[in-house]
Amino acid sequence: MAKRDFYEVLGVGRNATEDELKKAYRKLAVKYHPDKNPGDTEAESRFKEVSEAYEVLKNPEKRAQYDRFGHAGAFSGAGQSSGGYGGGYSFDLNDALNAFMRDFGGFGFDDLFGGGGGGGRGRQRRANRGEDLQIRLTISLAEAAAGAEKTLKINLFQSCRDCGGSGSRTGKTTTCPDCNGAGQVRRIQRSILGQMVTVGACERCGGSGEITGDPCPSCSGEGRRKQDQKIKVKIPAGVSTGNYLTLRGQGNAGPRSGQRGDLIVLIEVAEDDNFERHGDDLLFDLPISFSQAALGAQVEVPTLDGKARVTIPPGTQTGKILRMRGKGIPHLNSSGRGDQLVRVTVWTPTSLSTREKELYAELGEVESQSPPASGRGFWKRMREAFSA
Ligand SMILES: [Zn+2]
Ligand SMILES: [Zn+2]
Repeated sequence: MAKRDFYEVLGVGRNATEDELKKAYRKLAVKYHPDKNPGDTEAESRFKEVSEAYEVLKNPEKRAQYDRFGHAGAFSGAGQSSGGYGGGYSFDLNDALNAFMRDFGGFGFDDLFGGGGGGGRGRQRRANRGEDLQIRLTISLAEAAAGAEKTLKINLFQSCRDCGGSGSRTGKTTTCPDCNGAGQVRRIQRSILGQMVTVGACERCGGSGEITGDPCPSCSGEGRRKQDQKIKVKIPAGVSTGNYLTLRGQGNAGPRSGQRGDLIVLIEVAEDDNFERHGDDLLFDLPISFSQAALGAQVEVPTLDGKARVTIPPGTQTGKILRMRGKGIPHLNSSGRGDQLVRVTVWTPTSLSTREKELYAELGEVESQSPPASGRGFWKRMREAFSA
């Protein structure tokens, strides 16, 4: 099959700028990428074709050769040495995949399928970025309400001091020849189910794209070492279990001066002895006596801000909820606070003095109101009280 004109393949004019070439290539490479078109041989050959065209046209020297001599020019003479391709120059799929990764960095499915903006990222930045770390931090309800500052002690990878993170005693590195500096290698496997493309870190360079000469003995050439580190975390008021904080650049240092990963702090708020949390409201169970329920009373209850008085109105039933406005948990990321809900239970005394027995007996004789006859009406009122 005769090779098509490279400009035509990329759909650009002969005067296309480097930027235009790159955009055109990216668009087509993403469109025809094998990950996106599994088993589609037509897409695969288009992918190879655009990769090959871009590989030539992005290089000014090769482009000039191509412009003058056509396909024969691009693959012979001066331009040949860098890629090491011979006269029968043709991209195989691995070449194309590796070229794509090299030009656009280690990419995720987001880039492929979400189209996340044009342009290359720093080519090795992601490949040897340190790992994100996740830790769980348990705090008290009071800390969740007031906000807190905690110091975490974490054992993580930090840049090696002896080699400045380079991994090399002398600081010498060279581009890895196995992956051309991409840090990742794509392998193609054919099976009865069709073709599978797998991506793996390049074994030779461990994913960094670079090979270290004269490895540092302290870190065995990795450029990082595990050490304890104290990290301060500011916890905003209003957090709840399941919230997490992302501390950018506080995770593991990457190998050989790679970017640091993130530290993700998962918040867990411990159960409290006094309060049950419902969103930003707090529920407090308050037992009261018969006389308090019947006559009404002022009762002291704990709150997050210390003790406070709550008024029990005369004739209060079990299950009644009294709302103390603004005594709950502060809203996260906005002003104001939830409420404290006081759920009343009328407590029946279990042992009575002689005098109390007399009084209850007397009360029983003069009682004007008997409990409501219908059980259903009573429970309906109870439910209303609960959902207040
Ligand atoms: Zn070192
Ligand atoms: Zn490599």
